[in-house]
Amino acid sequence: MSADRRARPAAVEVRGAVKAFGAHTVLDGIDLTVEPGTVTVIVGPSGSGKSTLLRAINHLEKLDQGCVSVNGELIGVREQGDRLKELPERAILAQRRRIGFVFQNFNLFPHLTAVENVAEAPVATGAATRTEALERARSLLAAVGLADKEGAYPRHLSGGQQQRVAIARALAQHPEVILFDEPTSALDPELVGEVLSVIKDLAGTGTTLIIVTHEIAFAREVADEVVFLDGGRIVERGAPSQVLDRPRHTRTREFLSKVL
Ligand code: ADP
Ligand code: MG
Repeated sequence: MSADRRARPAAVEVRGAVKAFGAHTVLDGIDLTVEPGTVTVIVGPSGSGKSTLLRAINHLEKLDQGCVSVNGELIGVREQGDRLKELPERAILAQRRRIGFVFQNFNLFPHLTAVENVAEAPVATGAATRTEALERARSLLAAVGLADKEGAYPRHLSGGQQQRVAIARALAQHPEVILFDEPTSALDPELVGEVLSVIKDLAGTGTTLIIVTHEIAFAREVADEVVFLDGGRIVERGAPSQVLDRPRHTRTREFLSKVL
């Protein structure tokens, strides 16, 4: 590994993440390093803390302990002595723009067309003029196979099409990292493939992807690293061939026997 490469900060670094809701500890000391340009797939049973971990990465969820950095910059907080101090909301919003988030339920604006949904954030944040944003939105929609749907409202699109618009919308912000929270779980089975295929195209283009999914065959194909989460802890992590085909832990084996 060259000195240059070593000097590059991790795309995402989670250190000592702890989060409880009341008496229920949902993240129980998570350390996770994601290298730039790689694909990390997070798997684990329902309730294991996958969504909370993703939400903590873009500071939608505030940690009780620990911190998250994206490209070497602390997210949501800054260090003050040996404590962490919350950044102002405006600073957090600006940081969040660098992190795309694709939700299970698409979360498109219902009153905006596909192309307006994709162009909305760059215009709202002043990152682009309306003309520039619409032009880029059209090319992003074409890239996800929706060139003919730019004028359609979400209610006239299938779930798979809506999720592809949501991915184009995430890309419109030139994110350094994109987080996917079960992006195909809300889809009819015949629509899953078109969304996975768009995500597959994104893998290897330089954007760092962190994907929570139960699609194990997909994970095997795209992941550089698979992380198995259970009870708010990382039980094991490694290459897909190791974690998915030769898991070391009983809990991983039990989980995989249920989803495979
Ligand atoms: P996963 O995505 O792996 O299914 P989550 O991160 O959504 O798990 O949730 C982990 C646990 O935390 C669950 O038991 C869930 O009920 C609980 N939880 C998540 N968010 C909240 C919240 N805002 N308030 C209370 N409990 C929550
Ligand atoms: Mg979840």
